Amino acid sequence: MSVYVSPVKDMQFVMENVAGLSRVQQLPGFSDAGNDIVEAVLDEAGKFAAQLIAPLNAGADKQGARLVDGQVEASPGFSEAYKAFVEAGWASLSYDPQYGGQGLPHVLGTAVAEMWQSASLAFALCPMLTASAVSAVHRHGSDELKQIFLEKLISGEWTGTMQLTEPQAGTDLAAIKTRAVPTTDAAGKPAYRLSGQKIFITWGDHQMTDNVLHLILARVEGAPEGIRGLSLFLAPKYLLDENGKPGDRNDIYALSLEHKLGIHGSPTCVMGMGDKGGALAYLVGEENQGINCMFTMMNNARLEVGVQGLAISERAFQQARAYAGERVQGTAKDGTKQRIIDFPDVRRMLMLMKSQTEAMRALALMTAAQIDLADHADDAAQRKAAQARVDLLIPVVKGWCTETAQEITGLNVQVHGGMGFIEETGAAQHYRDARILTIYEGTSGIQANDFAGRKTLRDGGAAAKALIKDIRETVSTMLSAGGITGTLASQLAAACDGYEHSVNTLLARAGEDAGHAGAAAFNLLMQAGVVIGGWLMGQAALAAEAKLAAGDGEADFLNAKLASCRFYFAHVLPRATAYAAVVQAGSACLMEPDESLI
Ligand SMILES: Cc1cc2nc3c(=O)[nH]c(=O)nc-3n(C[C@H](O)[C@H](O)[C@H](O)COP(=O)(O)OP(=O)(O)OC[C@H]3O[C@@H](n4cnc5c(N)ncnc54)[C@H](O)[C@@H]3O)c2cc1C
Repeated sequence: MSVYVSPVKDMQFVMENVAGLSRVQQLPGFSDAGNDIVEAVLDEAGKFAAQLIAPLNAGADKQGARLVDGQVEASPGFSEAYKAFVEAGWASLSYDPQYGGQGLPHVLGTAVAEMWQSASLAFALCPMLTASAVSAVHRHGSDELKQIFLEKLISGEWTGTMQLTEPQAGTDLAAIKTRAVPTTDAAGKPAYRLSGQKIFITWGDHQMTDNVLHLILARVEGAPEGIRGLSLFLAPKYLLDENGKPGDRNDIYALSLEHKLGIHGSPTCVMGMGDKGGALAYLVGEENQGINCMFTMMNNARLEVGVQGLAISERAFQQARAYAGERVQGTAKDGTKQRIIDFPDVRRMLMLMKSQTEAMRALALMTAAQIDLADHADDAAQRKAAQARVDLLIPVVKGWCTETAQEITGLNVQVHGGMGFIEETGAAQHYRDARILTIYEGTSGIQANDFAGRKTLRDGGAAAKALIKDIRETVSTMLSAGGITGTLASQLAAACDGYEHSVNTLLARAGEDAGHAGAAAFNLLMQAGVVIGGWLMGQAALAAEAKLAAGDGEADFLNAKLASCRFYFAHVLPRATAYAAVVQAGSACLMEPDESLI
């Protein structure tokens, strides 16, 4: 079993020097979130994650969630840990104080979420899905719906689910068949009866809380076919009695649990509605506007799944680093025994893990800080610019961080040699658990299409070009700073030029080669991830070198950060060139060969 130590120092460094914490702290409503509070929250969360959640992770892999007599039983220790999690107030950290939240910045909530996810992806999926439900109800729910349900969701007293997928409707939500028929509830208020089947529903049922609130996409009778006929509903597992307490069982049940490759502690449910007249549900937002509401949920969840990629990478790196420092293999010429960390190739693997994990953390926290700006800045233009940056970056966080997590958890197995393939070490669990991340909340292919199509082509490349401008500003600062950072500047400048060339190619070919964007999308997304990672590592190098020169901070940590940045520029940033070349390749080599030739 691997031990987990929360990377509090790196989180603080990145928040303060790269993500823009000081700007966030100046926003209205965040004056209480000073550096001392941030540090205290990170320290306490780190202890909770390492001591109460992480030790349950390996056990939950062996004894996953089970369906017993129609009830979902959580893995050993999960219920107690969840209760402690809610009692300690961790569920409500960065939510609206009007509904019982603690109102802390999203950037801090994101750092803390990384810790829950590192400790156990399977456990942390439950609060993660609840967070998505909170965002949908908060943004789109009526005042009445918010009054009734939001506090319970925010406190974590009740959890939330997100129910889109049906057997015939995975990526293609237009194929959703679940039906909604207008009715009234026991108090005579407008409601609907839902019937249909949903599959693959994460934490779709459990006994850890006394109610579960299901957010469900369905089609009101008579609504248009396709995506425009979808509406979002909230169906509680237990209907509320006249005192607002869980009362009668609603007609929505977990019919079975999936057996899966990883995240065994997270119950993945087939959900049935309608055997007993239909699940009573309330409309969230307006009829036929469900897809907009669902996008609010999905954007939140996509950032969080990207954070899952970062988190499992951190956990895998820590395990590989510990093993490489102990495993003895070989004898040096002077007769001393060698540990595998003495070998350049093992160092290559460890540094690939470490530097990319740090770059992903910088990306996730910077995106979260932009969400704070988009939600809270006084100035409308600043809010708009921040939102444009968030919209552009969400698919990169989701797509690049989860794809990179595949490489990093694979490297952890490789560093362990044969022991990595043996379940006992736990390296295999991280590898298996990470595999879902590029699939749910929209596959990497879908993130790539979103990034190339909706986020780059639709605005004529405006958001991408604003990003390129910011990267070039960092290049100038790096050049003026000189030192090690200055030597890295020209590489970042070239990588940024390459990204600009890819964006221009995408825009230019959109009219002449209809298949180009789809064919180029994945490589464009990966190129952007690697280049943005370089931009943020460049900023980290600037700060580390300046602090070292000023004698400000812990020299060991700062030297390690600088080493990580140098490695990223030497071994990771060059990958951008290969991605860029594929973006130029066009669609002919994919689409011209007949299907029989594939
Ligand atoms: C463990 C687990 C938990 C999940 N949790 C939830 C949950 O809580 N709620 C929920 O609603 N769903 C959940 N899902 C479902 C998940 O979101 C879907 O599996 C995912 O969106 C992909 O859909 P699909 O499996 O039908 O694959 P498909 O849509 O059949 O895709 C198969 C392949 O085709 C590609 N593809 C499909 N369409 C396109 C396109 N237009 N362009 C390019 N490529 C395309 C995909 O990228 C993929 O590689 C979960 C799934 C799993 C396995």
